[in-house]
Amino acid sequence: MRIILASSNRGKIAEFKAYLKGYEVLSFDEIMEPFEIEEYGKSFKENAIIKSRAVFDRLNDKSAIVLSDDSGISVPVLGGIPGIFSARFAGKGASAKENLELLVKKLKEKKIQTTPAFYTAAIALSTSKGDFSVHGWMYGLATSNPKGDNGFGYDPMFIPEGFDKTLGELETSVKEEFSHRSRALKLAMILLKTLTKEKR
Ligand code: IMP
Repeated sequence: MRIILASSNRGKIAEFKAYLKGYEVLSFDEIMEPFEIEEYGKSFKENAIIKSRAVFDRLNDKSAIVLSDDSGISVPVLGGIPGIFSARFAGKGASAKENLELLVKKLKEKKIQTTPAFYTAAIALSTSKGDFSVHGWMYGLATSNPKGDNGFGYDPMFIPEGFDKTLGELETSVKEEFSHRSRALKLAMILLKTLTKEKR
């Protein structure tokens, strides 16, 4: 049973491979010409399915399962931004630093020091039987005073629930245990076992 990852992000690929021990895991650009997938969905779930379905439809091996994810941070007091636009908040091709700085600016404009925020991860699995998805969330506070270099993206401005430091300052083990992505992955593993049951 081959699992194909619909991602070319090396960090995500390493994370997924670590979870998917026991399966043959390949990233899609190892088996086909990489191509651009337009994320035109209106939710994390829709975008994750758009990616996994696009790759599955180009596969020769229809017994494979394609896995993808879509994730981001939402700040309710700002109307839920950046949400599904997290990766391109400061514009297409913007760096993680530019995206973070824009969100910090938005908080400062409203004179907000900390406010509730959450990360969402949707994971989709596309198979010959159809498309399936699961979600994971991590709740906490967004701060307009970012700190630390650990993690990536918006982590220096995110204080997870139960902690008084940002993910930029905390050990990476905190994220490995409680992150939106690891929570979604735990559910995806159950889904994967069910979907592959009769084939194993
Ligand atoms: P995706 O690759 O389309 O799923 O975009 C995810 C974007 O959301 C990233 O570029 C980050 O900006 C943000 N993001 C998602 N998960 C995390 C996280 O765990 N830490 C920090 N930023 C994240």
